[in-house]
Amino acid sequence: MTASSSLGGVSRAVTPSAWPAATPPPAPAGYQKDFIAAYMTPTDIAARIKRLARQYPKLVDVINLPNKTQGYRRTAVAYLGDPNVAAVVVESVKFGDQGMNGVQVRTVDPGAANRPLAASYADRVLTVRLATDSTGKIISTTDDVAAFLTAKYPQKFRATVVAGSAGLLMPVVAPVRLDDGLKGTEVSKKPWTVQALRIGKVRDGSKIGVLAYSQEHAREWATPLVTLEFAERLLANYATDPATKELVDNVDVFIIPTVNPDGANYSFNDFNFQRKNLVNHCTGANRDPRYRDSWGVDVNRNYTVGSYFDGYVGGSANCLSGTYSGTAELSEAESGNVIALASSHTNIRFAMNVHSYGGYFMWPPGAYKADGRVTLPRPSIDESKFFLDSARRIVGAIASSRGTVTWPAYTGPVADVLYSAAGNSADELYYELGIDAWDFEVGNDLWNEATQEWEGVGFQPPYDEAHAESQEYAGGLMELVRVARDKQAEESAASR
Ligand SMILES: [Zn+2]
Repeated sequence: MTASSSLGGVSRAVTPSAWPAATPPPAPAGYQKDFIAAYMTPTDIAARIKRLARQYPKLVDVINLPNKTQGYRRTAVAYLGDPNVAAVVVESVKFGDQGMNGVQVRTVDPGAANRPLAASYADRVLTVRLATDSTGKIISTTDDVAAFLTAKYPQKFRATVVAGSAGLLMPVVAPVRLDDGLKGTEVSKKPWTVQALRIGKVRDGSKIGVLAYSQEHAREWATPLVTLEFAERLLANYATDPATKELVDNVDVFIIPTVNPDGANYSFNDFNFQRKNLVNHCTGANRDPRYRDSWGVDVNRNYTVGSYFDGYVGGSANCLSGTYSGTAELSEAESGNVIALASSHTNIRFAMNVHSYGGYFMWPPGAYKADGRVTLPRPSIDESKFFLDSARRIVGAIASSRGTVTWPAYTGPVADVLYSAAGNSADELYYELGIDAWDFEVGNDLWNEATQEWEGVGFQPPYDEAHAESQEYAGGLMELVRVARDKQAEESAASR
């Protein structure tokens, strides 16, 4: 077999070697798995974390991460006027659930000549009296009303002119109600405490640490199922499987099942394609509620290494972009939590950032600059070999579940096999904290017999597929723990 590159390079193999050519140790009879029964919301995940801590007190700590999130909350808004004709967006400064949902706003004709623009707020009704000229005709414009309200009630309201309505005469509008538009009535509106599970027999920092974290991106519903199935397998088999016991006795495992619970709540209740968190940094006309499904920060573009702010490709300054990088590096609670956990536990040497979908297995560098496509520094040859050798083991473990093989072309540095992701968390963990940091994209393409084509599974496949992904990729994480154990054993042998 000969492979030729467009630049003239040629590689030849007489006997192609099998990929990944690695299989995990067989599970013993009675090995327990399959702990996932349905997709799980952040509320479900919090309950599962609580139950595991109660059930396995000798093996589990629950760590409350330091930054509370904004919560499943949003400001309340209303269009004052018809946004297709002439309108101002009136928005509460506080969140809707902080007493602002249901507040009414209206404009009135004062019915007299030479009146100035005025407003009053009483009994949860904001009344705007429009200005008139000497004949009693209304002369207030949309711009006048927006500027006036924002200046008069800086603690309570802000108002912006809808795009296309600038300079138009302000219409008389019957009362409209401000509303945050959130549909998840069962979801807590409080700021969320993101939690990590710490699993191990010895949790004092003396054992090598592994971090697995999932759902930086809200819509990736299968990913917490992977990390929770992994947690359950470690804990349930401890008492019955000597091999699992050996791992839990010697490795310190940290798991954040949902990094971005606010976005996840929004994905489950309001807009299933939500990728980002729920923090709206937009200004001006971009605060128009027609854009509400595009607000938020991409948590996995908000870190400090190879970031958009450093000039790397794959982040954005546009608050409506799917890869909006935030107002600054680590501007968001969610990204800060991942780094807080990793940097305060210096025994963590390996990390897996679990995403979906596509069937990738990746490591740094994860970003490059546009000019010359210069990546972050390449790992050394030895490190690259370690990444690839470990990848073979982990890909082999994933494949042992239902034959899913992550392709060699999808296994490698992010910048080579997928794209540039400026300011992603794995690069931060690797370059800043010296952690060998990988990324999964769970949910490999499936073969369609009828069409004879590979097909993507999507972010929220039918539950049976998500369940299968949780089983195979939990097996991959288990192999990552074996990789860590072997690394520790190798290092202690070398130091003897
Ligand atoms: Zn993702």
